[in-house]
Amino acid sequence: MSEGPVLVIGATGRTGRLILGRLLERRVPVRALVRDAAKGDEVLPPDVPRFLGDVRRGETLTEAMADVSSVIIATCSSAEHDNSAEAVDYRGTRNIMEQAVTADVGLVVFVSTIYASRPEHYQDVEPTSLGWKAKAEEVIRSSGVPYCIIRSGWLTDGGGGEPLAVSQGDTAEGRISRADLADVCTQLLCLPAARGKTLEVVAAPAGQAPSLASAVVALATDADAGSKPAPAASANELRMARAHASPSPRRVAICGGGVAAVEALLALRALLEVGVEVHLVAPNRQFIYQPLAVAAPFDLAQTHLSDLAGIAGEQRAELHVDSLARVDAEHRRIALAGGNTLPYDALLVAVGARRHDWLQGALHFGGAAEVAAFRALLERLESGADQRLSFVNPAGNSWALPLYELALLTASRLADRGVIGVELSLVTPEAEPLAVFGPAAGRMLRNLLAARGIALKAGARVEKIQSGKLHLHTGATLEVDQVVTLAQLEGPAVPGLPCDAAGFIAVDEQSRVTGLDDVYAVGDATTGPIKQGGIATQQADAAAEAIAARMGAPVTPSPIRPTLRGMLLTGIAPTYLRTQIADTGDSFETAANPLWWPPSKIAGRYLAPYLAGHSPLTCGQTLQDRPPCTQDRATLRESHDEARELALTFVEHDAAGGHFKSALQWLEVLEQIEGVLPPGYLHKRADWQARARE
Ligand SMILES: Cc1cc2nc3c(=O)[nH]c(=O)nc-3n(C[C@H](O)[C@H](O)[C@H](O)COP(=O)(O)OP(=O)(O)OC[C@H]3O[C@@H](n4cnc5c(N)ncnc54)[C@H](O)[C@@H]3O)c2cc1C
Repeated sequence: MSEGPVLVIGATGRTGRLILGRLLERRVPVRALVRDAAKGDEVLPPDVPRFLGDVRRGETLTEAMADVSSVIIATCSSAEHDNSAEAVDYRGTRNIMEQAVTADVGLVVFVSTIYASRPEHYQDVEPTSLGWKAKAEEVIRSSGVPYCIIRSGWLTDGGGGEPLAVSQGDTAEGRISRADLADVCTQLLCLPAARGKTLEVVAAPAGQAPSLASAVVALATDADAGSKPAPAASANELRMARAHASPSPRRVAICGGGVAAVEALLALRALLEVGVEVHLVAPNRQFIYQPLAVAAPFDLAQTHLSDLAGIAGEQRAELHVDSLARVDAEHRRIALAGGNTLPYDALLVAVGARRHDWLQGALHFGGAAEVAAFRALLERLESGADQRLSFVNPAGNSWALPLYELALLTASRLADRGVIGVELSLVTPEAEPLAVFGPAAGRMLRNLLAARGIALKAGARVEKIQSGKLHLHTGATLEVDQVVTLAQLEGPAVPGLPCDAAGFIAVDEQSRVTGLDDVYAVGDATTGPIKQGGIATQQADAAAEAIAARMGAPVTPSPIRPTLRGMLLTGIAPTYLRTQIADTGDSFETAANPLWWPPSKIAGRYLAPYLAGHSPLTCGQTLQDRPPCTQDRATLRESHDEARELALTFVEHDAAGGHFKSALQWLEVLEQIEGVLPPGYLHKRADWQARARE
């Protein structure tokens, strides 16, 4: 152990006090971090140097952390809201580790708990406290600071001196006295073999455990023990690199303010909490979630908008409201349209594709901006001014699902309103509808289109609209009054980045830009064959993993195994589609139950749970796949309808009783089950939101 003092955080707590006592007995120089000066005076020996600070505010830790050799974290959360496990164990640890990186602390010993990695197996006192300990452990492992994590058994106030059992894998059961835990902490501080290890310690029947030191020597480091753990060497390399290169954290620049950029930001922060500075460059102040725009003309949904500055702030990224103008890979910097330059250690480009309106005379539906135009088109059909509407899938389009949704929702709407005599058709170059989701999905869609009276022309390419007719590549024509299509996509052709003839950025299967170091590109901007939100998030995750690993995080970047997930709004219950894309052959699933959770339209590992926020249906912090239900469609439909009815009953009951917050929560549940709101509830929701605020 080097010369500086040992800082004990949580020093006035019952365990912290004992740790301080043991250190003093061993004549180790100490410091105590105390939140409450009076309590420090009351419970600590007078000769212990005290520093006032609060882990919930990182800046208050700087002075205490200066020149310390090691830090022992023995903080304890409580049920009070602002002292919660999230605030103290997780965010507090993150603040500590940020300061520890800057202060170049030699060792951090963290007191965690058994069951940290399996909170679901324990009747937790505070619903998520164990999980927050696990998140704090991850922060420490990925910090690059040498560490030892002690998962203690359930704490007692016994006198100590019991034999201890030391193990790994978080399978231990049992108790340990605070006195013994304090001993363990002080011993491990001086035991080099404990570095980079996570271990459980509980009291054990006599004779079970050899000496603590020999038990710890026999344990595996986290780097050797599992798939995610920290390579101690790379953590040390990172520290050395920091010491020799620059004292400031590494800098990641993410360009883009859409699906892929936000997923990358969330993934990066999940993998690398500290020691990295993230800059987000985007011209838009709002994150626009386009998929629900298809339901907006029917008043079944609103296009979701989120404040980008808010997302950036939460993820501790600096937002530059600007645009990427050029990449100077040689000097590792980017030029922004506003005139500034931004240096980077790693660059992630997620600037999306450019839209090209290819079919003159058609409405090119691209999302929120076209909702009003589509509404006007519906009105013309309903009034009888127009009678023939064709939906046209452009050649080369890899993501046609929104077009099928618009067609199905239009048919439902006309049927609901009793409009008769309108001819709907859908023209697609695909051999089968939504061919990318396989033959079963194709059959299902064929039947669905037929049942809704939508004439399907598969294998047909539209060339132009002339004199009220669609001209197909076969020479055939189709009479139309209105045509709706999707835009074709063109690449962004970013100066300084290699791109193909259409301007898409050339990347390898890890999302690395061909031929450039530490430059990644993801999403619709790239040469990837499928331009779709879910695929964009998978590319973003792969790039974030590669960047985090380069910066010392304990993660092994995994190759992208693209999985296409589509939630098709049909006008009744949604249908879920999944294709696993593999060299050995694709596999397809079609189901009436959600095939992933939360059941979002853009199935991003981090984005979907993040956007679902505090919805009661959100469990876990990453998207989880689910198997298709084996029940037949009719039974599933029945259960779905029952769930829907039940949720609707609660919505109405709570709203009638003036409990608008609760009604809104039930409505949120309903929206997740259905994908959209029931007809008429968009306005009700706005009204209840206003009344809930009163
Ligand atoms: C109507 C509709 C429905 C859809 N439905 C689904 C669906 O159900 N499921 C699904 O998975 N996908 C769906 N998609 C596709 C999905 O929206 C896109 O594939 C996804 O948004 C692509 O993500 P991206 O981040 O690459 O690009 P975008 O989301 O387009 O984001 C690009 C971002 O880059 C910013 N930008 C542009 N130029 C620059 C610059 N020079 N510098 C910095 N920033 C820049 C833009 O302002 C924007 O914020 C749908 C798309 C549409 C239009």
